[in-house]
Amino acid sequence: MTDSTQQFASDNYSGICPEAWAAMEQANHGHQRAYGDDQWTARAADEFRRLFETDCEVFFAFNGTAANSLALSSLCQSYHSVICSETAHVETDECGAPEFFSNGSKLLTARTEAGKLTPAAIREVALKRLDIHYPKPRVVTLTQATEVGSVYRPDELKAISATCKELGLNLHMDGARFSNACAFLGCSPAELTWKAGVDVLCFGGTKNGMAVGEAILFFNRKLAEDFDYRCKQAGQLASKMRFLSAPWVGLLENDAWLRHASHANHCAQLLSQLASDIPGAELMFPVEANGVFLKMPEPALEALRSKGWRFYTFIGSGGARFMCSWDTEPARVRELAADIRQVLEAA
Ligand SMILES: *Cc1c(COP(=O)(O)O)cnc(C)c1O
Repeated sequence: MTDSTQQFASDNYSGICPEAWAAMEQANHGHQRAYGDDQWTARAADEFRRLFETDCEVFFAFNGTAANSLALSSLCQSYHSVICSETAHVETDECGAPEFFSNGSKLLTARTEAGKLTPAAIREVALKRLDIHYPKPRVVTLTQATEVGSVYRPDELKAISATCKELGLNLHMDGARFSNACAFLGCSPAELTWKAGVDVLCFGGTKNGMAVGEAILFFNRKLAEDFDYRCKQAGQLASKMRFLSAPWVGLLENDAWLRHASHANHCAQLLSQLASDIPGAELMFPVEANGVFLKMPEPALEALRSKGWRFYTFIGSGGARFMCSWDTEPARVRELAADIRQVLEAA
């Protein structure tokens, strides 16, 4: 196994997809205006408005932490709070950036079912305290697809947004794997966002085949006021913005975003199928997007590691996460499944 062998630790282990690469190459001819005032950035924003069938405001950031944190900070004041799942990336993997960029808005975690928030869980947290000594809930953030690979259905999103409306909460979606959710459900991006009551979406490009970059889409345009200043202050305004925006044109204009996500999802389905009859490997969550979570005894995980496989176990003891990418080779999935079988039979 060489250092560039395909791994399943994360979908960001993969490289840049041909469509994003080609668009960057095309953008690399001649001069263009800077700071997002260029044709590629205008085109990318128009592609988003076409794809989402609405006149949304579009911004670009370097990564998901920045996109989420800045989006959340535009949805609340420092004395407000943000309700999220206990497993949310904003809670566990952003080093306090949402609190930092919002000048202190507290994240309040809610219980989940298969990684998903529910109206009841949101209500529980939002109504727990109504006095002045507690940070006032103002935002709900959910992740689509979730951190454990499950996907919210349109009806679930509508029920959550109805609860948000009732309680005066804005609704943000962390869509680091939004493409995978669309591919799994066969729903349009509009159905899974503004038609279901989502105010702001952070649409992930990196895990979908870009080198770098996430898009922030405000369906509720009022909430986007001065967001450009927020991005600039946070160091997220690229002076050569066209190299963040051009890859989106490549991904969006021929539905490459959906094809790549669909491929990654199918590879995850293949792995879960192959693992389903391996004694000792237990599926922890329904496989709906591009991730497979398997519970295995610790010695088997160790044996798998010493065979050269890389994977995360952040989900708790004995839980291994395997992520598939836009370029995952089915043959490599089969190799992984065969090795999982072997280490478990030897255990
Ligand atoms: C990868 C990921 C992000 C973005 O992470 P960055 O490393 O900041 O780009 C955000 N949310 C979720 C759920 C993710 O998996």
